[in-house]
Amino acid sequence: ESTINQIAAGEVIERPAAVVKELVENSIDAGANAITVEIKEGGISFIRITDNGSGIDEEDMPLVFLRHSTSKIRTAEDLLSVSSLGFRGEALSSIAAIAQVELVTKTAEAFSGIRYQIAGGEEKSIEHIGCPGGTTFIVRNLFYNTPARRKFLKSPVTEAGYISDLMERLSVSHPNVAFKFINNNQIKLHTSGNNNLKDIIYHVYGRDIASHLVTVEDDANGLNINGFIAKPIVSRGNRNYENYFINGRYIKSGLISKAIEEAFRPFSMTHRYPFTCLHLHIPSELIDVNVHPAKLEIRFKNGEEVYQLVYHAVKSALEGKEL
Ligand code: ADP
Ligand code: MG
Repeated sequence: ESTINQIAAGEVIERPAAVVKELVENSIDAGANAITVEIKEGGISFIRITDNGSGIDEEDMPLVFLRHSTSKIRTAEDLLSVSSLGFRGEALSSIAAIAQVELVTKTAEAFSGIRYQIAGGEEKSIEHIGCPGGTTFIVRNLFYNTPARRKFLKSPVTEAGYISDLMERLSVSHPNVAFKFINNNQIKLHTSGNNNLKDIIYHVYGRDIASHLVTVEDDANGLNINGFIAKPIVSRGNRNYENYFINGRYIKSGLISKAIEEAFRPFSMTHRYPFTCLHLHIPSELIDVNVHPAKLEIRFKNGEEVYQLVYHAVKSALEGKEL
């Protein structure tokens, strides 16, 4: 059982950023609107995630670390139709199999909190303690029991960079959540969670981009797009600043990137890739999701409609503007 979990864990949890992604998504699913992520040594030796969400019931405690015992959704097809981000019910078991995990949690109803420790898939301790409502996960020494996997990690600086990129995407994909990111005792990011996307973009990407934003907004055939594109003057040399989210999920799509870039091209002499932050809402029955443990592939049943929506929304946002 433990070997199976370790092998499977390797597929899901490749690096510290994957731990952070899974734990933050759990916090969001638990209704948190304030989430603090603290890392040391690129997250390899230390990751702490604190949320003000629902907390975990005492009777659910050991269960949440069992594979598939708690899956919020059973079928991958439901993935984009439900509001919860978790669906496989395997993140916690995978993380607990390859690291030393400490969990402190309390629900609003419970008189006291619980502190639970698990390492290499083995329960180490469980006790009652006083603590505020919500959940804190500490993940120490990732891959401590699988040295071969640990060798594939990059330097702490590079791993911290992946986590920083992730925190930026999470911040703009969930503008209603206040995120704080602390790397080696330094606050790197702190968003207000005030649900004002422009404010959040300012916090995350700075004044230069935030002061050159143009609103993008359109509806067609039950599809909706809204968000911002930055004027060409602050465009970038690569696609890394093209952010878009479908039904709250960060994804990559060649089709959407192409629609953005084609619409943007006539307005920019120098750069091909704009900064964007676009939220798309697409009925889930129009999306084919192919779920692989490590990545999310997405295909549209109405690809042409999605392309046209994005293309025209971006084009008409820029048209007639002083750029
Ligand atoms: P999934 O998210 O797919 O259900 P996970 O292994 O990520 O599976 O999490 C297992 C379960 O643990 C969740 O379904 C949830 O019930 C509980 N859980 C995990 N993290 C939190 C949290 N931060 N707050 C409240 N409950 C949590
Ligand atoms: Mg999850």
